[in-house]
Amino acid sequence: MGNLYATGRVVSEGLDSVLNQEFKALDKGFVRVVDYMGNDSSIVQAARVSYGKGTKTTQDDVALIRYLLKHKHTTPFEMCEIKLHIKAPIFIARQWLRHRTASVNEYSARYSIIEEEYYVPATENIRKQSSSNKQGRGEALSTEESQEIQNKMDQVTQNCFALYNEFIKIDDNNNELVAKELARSILPVNIYTQFYWKIDLHNLMHFLRLRCDSHAQYEIREYANIILDLLKLWLPSTYQAFLDYHINAINFSAQEMSMLHSMLSQVEVVDKLEGLSMREYNEFKNKINKGI
Ligand SMILES: Cc1cc2nc3c(=O)[nH]c(=O)nc-3n(C[C@H](O)[C@H](O)[C@H](O)COP(=O)(O)OP(=O)(O)OC[C@H]3O[C@@H](n4cnc5c(N)ncnc54)[C@H](O)[C@@H]3O)c2cc1C
Repeated sequence: MGNLYATGRVVSEGLDSVLNQEFKALDKGFVRVVDYMGNDSSIVQAARVSYGKGTKTTQDDVALIRYLLKHKHTTPFEMCEIKLHIKAPIFIARQWLRHRTASVNEYSARYSIIEEEYYVPATENIRKQSSSNKQGRGEALSTEESQEIQNKMDQVTQNCFALYNEFIKIDDNNNELVAKELARSILPVNIYTQFYWKIDLHNLMHFLRLRCDSHAQYEIREYANIILDLLKLWLPSTYQAFLDYHINAINFSAQEMSMLHSMLSQVEVVDKLEGLSMREYNEFKNKINKGI
């Protein structure tokens, strides 16, 4: 098992260079690349099959990837896959596993003893409830207040682990006093879990769009940003197109488009291309004109 030998498959040198490396997340978590399939050329190759003609140069390949991503031709992106090993607090894993389009294998706390590892936020990340966003964090607390809260978080988890360890103590018959599957129920959601997560590139980008966003919880964003960096190593052309058309792009509603059109019609704003090709520039003009 696990023999290494020269492969005829396409590889990503960038991702190969960090394979099996643990990228630290939060206080005790990590992201580790276990395996992957495909590189930028796999997307181009798949698109070529559906379009029935090949592209000739690297520049053509990059342009094709950008075209596909921009126009939501999604299936070529399903040709690449990645398998990650994640260690994250349970309350983050719970958000993570809402993404149904991945395959998952998680550590079994029915079968194995839970290590005394849990997440306690850094003091600067302990903040008040946001008053404008019901799901978010707001104002900072004083250093004393956040330290006190941090200590309480730590203490209560240690108390829970003390009871858990009492429950799973081996008795005279060489059995745990309480079954592990039940003993674990008294542990809080800040304890760490681990899982393998395999997902195709199309659904990975969907995950990243949602979880790198500022509306996502800080803790899951930490993981998503590590994965975004891994995407850069794995698929540089797709990564750049993903930044340009998704992460750093925004949508406008019909009403916003209408306002935008009124604003832009009053001034001559477009006298340079800002890195757009002529085709992209014309698409942009058509979009603005739709807002009339
Ligand atoms: C900032 C934020 C706040 C959130 N708050 C809450 C919350 O308060 N409560 C809560 O319950 N959830 C919450 N969620 C989770 C959210 O509702 C989604 O469950 C999660 O983001 C997964 O998204 P998804 O379903 O698009 O992804 P995936 O499950 O990966 O699915 C990807 C896409 O596949 C398609 N798909 C997958 N399965 C089906 C299906 N069975 N039927 C039809 N289409 C399918 C859909 O097009 C979907 O977008 C939140 C998510 C975010 C990012």
